[in-house]
Amino acid sequence: MSSRSTSYGKCFLCGETLAKNAVSRHLEKCIPAHESAQTAKGKPERLFHLRVEGYEASFYWLDLEIPARANLETLDDYLRAIWLECCGHLSAFEIAGQRYEVSLEGVDFPFYDERPKSMKSARLEKILSVGMTFLHEYDFGTTTTLNIKVVGERIGVLEGKGKVRLLARNYAPDYRCKVCGEPAEYLYTYEYPYGPYCEEHIEDKEEEACMPIVNSPRAGECGYTGPYDESLAFEEKQPA
Ligand SMILES: [Zn+2]
Ligand SMILES: [Zn+2]
Ligand SMILES: [Zn+2]
Repeated sequence: MSSRSTSYGKCFLCGETLAKNAVSRHLEKCIPAHESAQTAKGKPERLFHLRVEGYEASFYWLDLEIPARANLETLDDYLRAIWLECCGHLSAFEIAGQRYEVSLEGVDFPFYDERPKSMKSARLEKILSVGMTFLHEYDFGTTTTLNIKVVGERIGVLEGKGKVRLLARNYAPDYRCKVCGEPAEYLYTYEYPYGPYCEEHIEDKEEEACMPIVNSPRAGECGYTGPYDESLAFEEKQPA
């Protein structure tokens, strides 16, 4: 996983396996090639192409397309659904020195010099431009931090249902059991870094610290066991 220098993932339009650094180039051709009859009928709008990756573990990555008129809450909702949500923790974006939080009702901000803005009132087109990078944090206790880059933009029709389109994402990292080297299914979180173990070798560990390995930078944190919406789960390994 982290020892491997190149991370590979799958294009969700054509199914091809791609190196992480070749995705943008591939999509420039693959998106137009997969325009459907539905696209031709839709009303074109400005769309941002975002690359999201784990801040600590950049071998977890997503390429997304989202309308520029969407707000930050739409993006936050999607990141929670596909990668983050365990028990309804708070989250925030940090963009060009400004903090945006999910819910500001009844909250005091004694620790901030400047009051955060609300995600809901922040439209992407007002705050993002191509080339910018920014951060997302989920859970201010056992925090999962994501790095997001605005890779590009285009005028087009967003395909598929929902407000965010998944273009590509990484294959499940190949974690191996610390004891036997077979594929690991669990992380033991009483060790740091969290130790990967197979079914057999996790047996003698403390049960409350055994977490399933899932394809997300939140694997092993708090109560995270994968997306609630199973259509967002992706546990395929890189084809040999
Ligand atoms: Zn493709
Ligand atoms: Zn939690
Ligand atoms: Zn083992």
